[in-house]
Amino acid sequence: MRSSSSSSITPADPDSAFADLLARVQACTVCAANLPHPPRPVLRASPTARLLIVGQAPGRRVHETGIPWNDPSGDLLRQWLGMTREQFYDVSRIAIVPTGLCYPGTVKGSDLAPRPECAPLWHPLLRAAMPDIRLTLLIGAYAQAYYLGKRRGRTLTETVRAWRDFLPDYLPLPHPSPRNRGWLKQNPWFEAEVLPALRERVGTVLATGDNGGAPNQI
Ligand code: SF4
Repeated sequence: MRSSSSSSITPADPDSAFADLLARVQACTVCAANLPHPPRPVLRASPTARLLIVGQAPGRRVHETGIPWNDPSGDLLRQWLGMTREQFYDVSRIAIVPTGLCYPGTVKGSDLAPRPECAPLWHPLLRAAMPDIRLTLLIGAYAQAYYLGKRRGRTLTETVRAWRDFLPDYLPLPHPSPRNRGWLKQNPWFEAEVLPALRERVGTVLATGDNGGAPNQI
């Protein structure tokens, strides 16, 4: 994985170092020439987060509002998690970092793939700066490809069906896009089997430990 030479989080002043890292992310222009708009990284992260949600990349509405999962996909994800918006956006406990941080644009009405430069550049640094993460939700094929590599199945369905194999660190999920309603109907085991386990795991992860302290966020 690629990393930046000036990336270390100094133990002597971890809050300041975390804020510096977020400022560097915010100022990133690495793939600006390939984006349809000026870069606008959309993420939420704090050094006390215990749950990390890794999705695909911001869609247009998320790009415009700057709020991740602020769309129908986010509504369904919160339903899966059994969370209110307030709980979901508690950055002191839940970090949200997509595979590609900026809106990549669309082609023929479909969102383009996350920029390939992004995850190798920023995920290792952000992940290292959040040492209390106990569970990472891998939402969709891009997140699963980046984090699971060769461990994932031949298809997203295979990967999600084998969800137990990736615990306790990762839990792969399909993307909660309205476009995936057909997949959800064809795979009723997901709601019957995976969602209860998801809620139980997330509840456990968020219930334990001390999450006090002032959050940093973008
Ligand atoms: S998508 Fe990622 S690499 Fe590209 S400009 Fe945005 S933050 Fe930087």
